[in-house]
Amino acid sequence: MSDVLARRKRLLGPHVTTFYKEPVHLARGEGVWLWDTDGRKYLDCYNNVPHVGHCHPRVVKAIAKQAATLNTHTRYVHDGILDYGEALTAKFDHDLTSMVMVCSGSEANDVALRMAQAVTGKTGVITTDNTYHGNTSAVSQLNSSKTPIGGFKDHVKRVPAPDNMAPVGGTRAGQAAAFAEAVKSAIAELAASEHGLSALIICPYFANEGFPTLEKGFLDEAVAAVKAAGGIVIADEVQPGFGRIGSHWWGHQKLGFAPDIVTLGKPMANGHPVAATITRPEILTAFQDGFKYFNTFGGNPVSAAAAHAVLNVIEDEGLVANAADVGTYAVAQLKELQTRYDVIADVRGSGLFLGVELWRDGKPATEICTAMIDEMRNRGVLLHSEGRYDNTLKIRPPCAFDRGNADLLVETMNAAFEAVQ
Ligand code: PMP
Repeated sequence: MSDVLARRKRLLGPHVTTFYKEPVHLARGEGVWLWDTDGRKYLDCYNNVPHVGHCHPRVVKAIAKQAATLNTHTRYVHDGILDYGEALTAKFDHDLTSMVMVCSGSEANDVALRMAQAVTGKTGVITTDNTYHGNTSAVSQLNSSKTPIGGFKDHVKRVPAPDNMAPVGGTRAGQAAAFAEAVKSAIAELAASEHGLSALIICPYFANEGFPTLEKGFLDEAVAAVKAAGGIVIADEVQPGFGRIGSHWWGHQKLGFAPDIVTLGKPMANGHPVAATITRPEILTAFQDGFKYFNTFGGNPVSAAAAHAVLNVIEDEGLVANAADVGTYAVAQLKELQTRYDVIADVRGSGLFLGVELWRDGKPATEICTAMIDEMRNRGVLLHSEGRYDNTLKIRPPCAFDRGNADLLVETMNAAFEAVQ
């Protein structure tokens, strides 16, 4: 292992990150399982990418078949992107019938920001103060933790992210109104600046913010204020999309608002680098009028085949309903665990996107959370952390996760809490 880590450091740079004190050196995956190079088996409870299960045979077959038939850049005409795009956009409401296919969530958000600029002629963006939307030069301006090269510019206004333990405005009941007030102030600041209001970009599940429990309608007032001021609403669905949350295909459907643009990525093709920006036809046209965008690999025949296979598997295997069923089952078990360990301050989530927040003596229990992550890894269950203080265990397994897998997760957590607390 030390040899591999040294090679990584030399080749990929000293700051390339790995999870866990003792990183996991993987060899293969199948379904919800991973095996390391020593043949040790792990339950994957974190990986947002192998959405329908590691190496799903139908996705593997679709990729292999298309790779053996044709793969090329995207300026030839091919049915693959059309067949997939029509099937995908049918999953959206509100005239979101056009798309640009790209290769990463960062690119999808970059395109979304540029679409908003094309429509509004403005550059000011509102986002939350505890988020991540990607790594392009423009998108990294939105991130709260990783400082972009050249520092943060003042066209981005940050509003406090909603939170279960420390709600915006002081109470959970008043959180939506307080959040909307912050958005309205940001709109006013941008309107008074040289930037003007271009967009609000938000993950509708607040995935990087710690996914607080929010009522349907939570964003209504904020979204209405942005639209009334002529701004574009971008829903970054890179993490919650494709049915993970169980109740709906998309996070914005769960909250019940209508974004102008939706960005997708991570789970879209089960690990093949596929992402997209979905929007209304007139927004796409305004964007393309200003810039003849093309993306060499975005939506190529193999990428389209991989993504289409994922869509079909979600449908045919009923994975959205499975996420709802197993997620509800897991939450009940985690709540039972909460009665045994007072360090568990909050259990939350929807479908197969769950959080267990840890507090001790009135403070975020970040160290216990870090210790839990390593303890779980050593016991063969992979998960990680989230939230402003990295004190929430983040559980986000492939959507093929079953009740038996949930039992193993909770039993292992029980033993791990026993060991670390
Ligand atoms: N948006 C969100 C909400 C994300 O969490 C991430 C990645 N963690 C991205 C965008 C960027 O996606 P990618 O790494 O594929 O560029």
